[in-house]
Amino acid sequence: MKIPFHKAYLGPGEAEAAADVIKSGWLTMGEKTFQFERDFSGYTGAGNSIAVNSCTAALHLALKAIGIQPGDEVIIPAMTFIATWEVITYSGAKPVLADIEHHSFLIDPAEIEKKITPKTRAIIPVHYGGESCDMDAIMEIARRHKLHVIEDAAHALPTLYKGRMIGTIGDITCFSFYATKTITTGEGGMITTADRERADRMRRLRLHGITKDAWNRYSEKGTWQYDVSEPGYKYNITDIASAIGIEQLKKCDAMNIMRHEIAAKYNNAFKKSELLHTWKVRDNAECAWHLYPVLVNTDAVSISRDDFIEQLKSAGIGTSVHYIPMYRFSCFDKSGYTPGDFPASEYMFSRQVSLPIYPGMNSGETDYVISTVLSILEGNRR
Ligand SMILES: *Cc1c(COP(=O)(O)O)cnc(C)c1O
Repeated sequence: MKIPFHKAYLGPGEAEAAADVIKSGWLTMGEKTFQFERDFSGYTGAGNSIAVNSCTAALHLALKAIGIQPGDEVIIPAMTFIATWEVITYSGAKPVLADIEHHSFLIDPAEIEKKITPKTRAIIPVHYGGESCDMDAIMEIARRHKLHVIEDAAHALPTLYKGRMIGTIGDITCFSFYATKTITTGEGGMITTADRERADRMRRLRLHGITKDAWNRYSEKGTWQYDVSEPGYKYNITDIASAIGIEQLKKCDAMNIMRHEIAAKYNNAFKKSELLHTWKVRDNAECAWHLYPVLVNTDAVSISRDDFIEQLKSAGIGTSVHYIPMYRFSCFDKSGYTPGDFPASEYMFSRQVSLPIYPGMNSGETDYVISTVLSILEGNRR
């Protein structure tokens, strides 16, 4: 059996929606994008939604919108995708890494506090795997120190925190529609914020900084005249992608249920084994289950995490590791960070494997992953 790490859940709806845009003759940002934004606000309850061509672009615009300056510091978890880090460097600001909580993959509010200096301007919590960070604690720290909170919600559609939808809590929230995320447009992202003024600014910045309605300057109602208020970026999404996004968003709840079912099956099968640890999500029902991470219990088995991955691969099962902590990359050589500064990230990284979890995965495939995982670990029991 061959089971990929991920497979997008696409149907004729997405294909037809994309084809309709192509037939319309208007391919880039236009009416479909504005509909996608309205639908997204409707789904999440966000005040304003701004569609862009990636979550990376979304994070960059969010930092612009809070007025980030060279020399400012922004606190992020040590264990996240490199995009969370790189966008801070775009502005000449300094990313500051904080460790994750012990036995969770989420930034530790106590570690955030330790990293705050007079130069700190913002915190970017990452809702790893679709589990919400401790937003009450993070928002309280931010208020006390007058910091902005930009949420990296690349994994968190749909995620609830104490009954509130992610996308409605922090100052600005950034979602991803990359190929492997919970909904996909191939490439794409969405920014949500309750702040109208910042929303309008990010809307301009995503398309060269040109004034709001100039996207339709080629249409009948359009005009050649427009103003540029400040230098912007080429971060707009296309209507082809937005049309796919509209269809994906309609299926978001159904896909979420399918991921929950797979997660429940995995949890149930693995909880009896002491050879691996499953992820202890604080509240099962609220997690988007974008990832299904397990930790190899290296005290109980003689196999390393890396060998475990190789054996799964030989058995036809695709996996991944989320994440290589950033301080391990060569671009951090001069940062002064050492692995010893981040004991929780090191602990998790050395044991972590992400198993396949995607909506179209059938029960035979899930069963195969379960039996293969358990038999490899049993075969290497100490
Ligand atoms: C995927 C991802 C991003 C970047 O998303 P893109 O849409 O590919 O730019 C950012 N942060 C995290 C945690 C991610 O997983």
